[in-house]
Amino acid sequence: MQKNKRMISHSDSILYCNSLTTYKRFKTREVMIGDLALGGDNPIRLQSMTTTDTMDTAGTVAQSIRMIEAGCELVRITAPSIKEAQNLENIRKELRNRGYNTPLVADIHFTPNAAELAARIVEKVRINPGNYADKKKFEHIDYTDFAYEAELDRIRERFTPLVKICKEYGTAMRIGTNHGSLSDRIMSRYGDSPLGMVESAMEFLMIAEENNFYNLVLSMKSSNTQVMVQAYRLLVSKMIEKGMNYPLHLGVTEAGEGEDGRIKSAVGIGTLLEDGLGDTIRVSLTEEPEYEIPVAKALVDRYKHRENHSPIPEIAKYPIDPYNYSRKKASEVNNLGGENAPRIILDFSQINLDNPAVLYRAGYAYSVPLDKWNLSDLACDYIYTGKQIPTFEIPGTLGLIVDVTSWESNRFNHFPLLSSNEYIEKNLDNSQLKFVTLQLSKMNAEMIAKLKNDQNAVLVISTENTHAMPEIRRFFVLCMEHGITNPIVVKRNYNLSDLSEFQINAASDIGGLLIDGLGDGIWLSNENDSPSIKHVNQTAFGILQAARVRISKTEYISCPSCGRTLFDLQETTAKIRKRTDHLKGLKIGIMGCIVNGPGEMADADFGYVGTGIGKITLYKGKDVVKRNVSSELAVDELIQLIKDNGKWVEMPI
Ligand code: SF4
Repeated sequence: MQKNKRMISHSDSILYCNSLTTYKRFKTREVMIGDLALGGDNPIRLQSMTTTDTMDTAGTVAQSIRMIEAGCELVRITAPSIKEAQNLENIRKELRNRGYNTPLVADIHFTPNAAELAARIVEKVRINPGNYADKKKFEHIDYTDFAYEAELDRIRERFTPLVKICKEYGTAMRIGTNHGSLSDRIMSRYGDSPLGMVESAMEFLMIAEENNFYNLVLSMKSSNTQVMVQAYRLLVSKMIEKGMNYPLHLGVTEAGEGEDGRIKSAVGIGTLLEDGLGDTIRVSLTEEPEYEIPVAKALVDRYKHRENHSPIPEIAKYPIDPYNYSRKKASEVNNLGGENAPRIILDFSQINLDNPAVLYRAGYAYSVPLDKWNLSDLACDYIYTGKQIPTFEIPGTLGLIVDVTSWESNRFNHFPLLSSNEYIEKNLDNSQLKFVTLQLSKMNAEMIAKLKNDQNAVLVISTENTHAMPEIRRFFVLCMEHGITNPIVVKRNYNLSDLSEFQINAASDIGGLLIDGLGDGIWLSNENDSPSIKHVNQTAFGILQAARVRISKTEYISCPSCGRTLFDLQETTAKIRKRTDHLKGLKIGIMGCIVNGPGEMADADFGYVGTGIGKITLYKGKDVVKRNVSSELAVDELIQLIKDNGKWVEMPI
């Protein structure tokens, strides 16, 4: 039994941001990191972390310069031991000599002596409260209150010297909690929970405040976007309760690479930015660190002029629990709502529907010799074809939505789409499944009354408001207030030519709804030909996976790498992905080092962790299964481990 473990309930505090309807940044105190002001009214700062060996001064300087040139405003460098902490001085000196004054941050895990040295050299130190004064043994310990207090005294003794040095040298500090590396003490008392993450930071925060040290930044990272969002919200709620206002550093840990990493980061970080939370962000991708910056910038730029958005009606009583996930209840219509995972709708209205091959973009491949459809894991659920009716027979698993006027002339196997006016005027039979496009402004008394009597209307909600997610959220709240339980599909249309920007915009617009259990489907479209429908479909599935509401592919929890990394993460991740990306739903952790890797893998089913040069340790869950396997054999051994545990399926041909 976990002593004192409790869930934060909705009634504990609803307050985690300024407003759920009006964009306004949560005002934090200004913290100086060298000459860089963070928090307060300052812009949201962009940062990243080097991946070079910290002892490689030239390499670290060169990489830092590439990051700074890309727009990085804070450069974090790992300092695993005292010698790397000392070398930060050479790196800093060389950067300053070359005219780069960007503040440096020392990243510390486990080594107070390295932290105490680094705090005298660089502008900021990051400590992890899960491992600053504790070594993780994955032990459950039942603490009496007295024993727990004694533990806090021990931490106080360990941590106070660093606080004093930071005070003396004007060094800032980030208390950076990671979901995957909570101490055994916190786990024993609070469990593996957002509350445990917040309490972990609070223990250290109180010690800093006892010493009148306030030059602090806080973070609550997790690779699980739901946990990450809940933890940050809970942290802000706690800060408000205690009259604190420390700046927030936002990030999703081990987000992965490429499309998955971008979407996952945008879902987690974007959800918080939408509500005005966050003073600095780090998008962590398993790529070169300078590639993280344009993604971070694109994300932050979305909020630059957000204050000018059209007004959204305020919410008198918020019916959604922001600290615990629960899916909003909706009645089941066809395969939408009820217990069904959120569905995906794609727009084919501009595509000529005269050949089955066009559906390849939606995840359906037609075999002419076999006269058979093959569905990929990313087969969408519905397509909208406008006025067109396809000339070929579509797969039985794919729903077809057409404009109501086309449906009226050919009702066979299609579902009508109506505007809100058509819905009121046409009075279709209540037993007929229909899709109704709506905006918040259309929800008048007549519409509400009609919807309450029509369980077979699926609502397709869209908005023109630049503060899109909160307006759509307001629509959900209005439906909840009026007892409207029809399934709701969130529709977003873009006109973008850059795939990464499309992924970031769509993920941050929709992610925040899914994370709060809102949305029975998503309808994504792009007016530009590129990104194509195929990319739109992949993005839609990626968003659902990143918000953890529909799993359609293997999940890779790969660390971004840093100076501790013991193998080429990008190359190894690509190798593992090539062999395993058909294992839908499996979570594989790929971690650069044994020091943090096992903790950071969080809830991975299998883990591949660097333990020395050319040496890999394999995990099943949190348990070591094979130690120090040669890296040449390690991918094969990982596959064997997956097979031995009955999780393997052969790759489809
Ligand atoms: S897990 Fe990866 S990013 Fe984290 S400390 Fe180890 S090598 Fe660095």
